[in-house]
Amino acid sequence: MEKADITIIGAGVIGLAIAAEIAEPGLNIFILEKNPTHGSATSSRNSEVIHSGMYYPAGSLKASLCVAGRTMLYEIAAHNNIPHKKIGKLVVATKPDETEEIERLHANARKNDVRSVAIISTRKIAQMEPHITACAALHSPETGVISAHALMNYFLLQAKSKKAQFVYNTEVVRIEKETGGYRIFTENSKNEAFEFSSAVVINAAGLESDTIANMAGGDYQLHYCKGDYCSISGIKQGTVQRLIYPVPVKNHVGLGVHLTIDLAGRLKLGPDTAYISRGENYAVAPEKVHLFYQSARKFLPFLKEENVNPDMSGIRPKLQGPADSFRDFIIQEDRPGFINLVGIESPGLTSSPAVARYVKKMLT
Ligand SMILES: Cc1cc2nc3c(=O)[nH]c(=O)nc-3n(C[C@H](O)[C@H](O)[C@H](O)COP(=O)(O)OP(=O)(O)OC[C@H]3O[C@@H](n4cnc5c(N)ncnc54)[C@H](O)[C@@H]3O)c2cc1C
Repeated sequence: MEKADITIIGAGVIGLAIAAEIAEPGLNIFILEKNPTHGSATSSRNSEVIHSGMYYPAGSLKASLCVAGRTMLYEIAAHNNIPHKKIGKLVVATKPDETEEIERLHANARKNDVRSVAIISTRKIAQMEPHITACAALHSPETGVISAHALMNYFLLQAKSKKAQFVYNTEVVRIEKETGGYRIFTENSKNEAFEFSSAVVINAAGLESDTIANMAGGDYQLHYCKGDYCSISGIKQGTVQRLIYPVPVKNHVGLGVHLTIDLAGRLKLGPDTAYISRGENYAVAPEKVHLFYQSARKFLPFLKEENVNPDMSGIRPKLQGPADSFRDFIIQEDRPGFINLVGIESPGLTSSPAVARYVKKMLT
């Protein structure tokens, strides 16, 4: 491999979006990925929701990049045949003491310039979603769903068409600072070592982004927070038209077990939140069926426990530990020419094109 101008570590949606944004013919850009193909970690284990940006504290990167990324995603998807649907969402209160949270969320949405979000009357709720239980609700018409894989394939093709080079089955194991850049040490799936130099390094390694940052003198620690899903079967299609969320879990750990509808109209519950020790175990325990049923039947009264089945899971790379308050995305140049993206949990998929533009600005 010749000397790289820029090396991106990680070919998830973030690394791919950055590659698509910054690649240009004549620039030597390499994207290193430890897995055999792109997008096979967290980017393919999520709800595929295009978030509106109502939840995050005003002024945070999560708020601004989600709002900007959402607009960009709808444009990209519309112009490039990427399957998506702006189906909208309701955040529902099922007890009077939750209505305050609906009002707080509404005020926060306005602070984040998410103007389309509105509190709707119980009559309107009954018209929009006659089969759910809610005593108050916030309607977010700008929320949607997208095929994460189609989006990632689009970014991949964009990057490749501008001569970015993808190197799979290649894990970064060590990084050293050298004059004019960094020496990157890798190992492939046959345990063969290879090293090269790169003027600039962009760390988009998801669940390992703290490890990579720390190889270059950083001091980060991610907490792994698992989110399980259960699929729903035996419910007539069209019973629910929109994504239905409960009021969010306190302290921004997660959004609460909610109902999503994928592009094929399939219903899914989740994700929940469970801090786990480091490691990628994606099994979903059978007892989740009962727990999810108990949470969801508060707002989905038609649900029976036999409709709920264990499904997939994902792991959030969280900077926020179990006892901590909100933590924002970290996107910063910690050492000259070394940009770290750490803690890119939700709304990372929604934010991806805006994150890429943000990184490009840092480079120029
Ligand atoms: C349960 C769950 C639900 C979510 N729902 C949503 C949602 O609905 N909407 C939304 O906007 N966001 C959502 N998110 C967040 C979103 O999925 C992530 O923010 C996004 O996928 C992160 O992308 P990434 O590229 O940073 O990470 P990843 O997809 O994890 O990619 C990182 C890549 O780096 C590679 N890598 C790691 N270490 C090395 C190494 N040493 N050398 C080489 N390669 C390496 C990995 O193999 C991986 O492919 C959700 C996340 C979870 C967990």
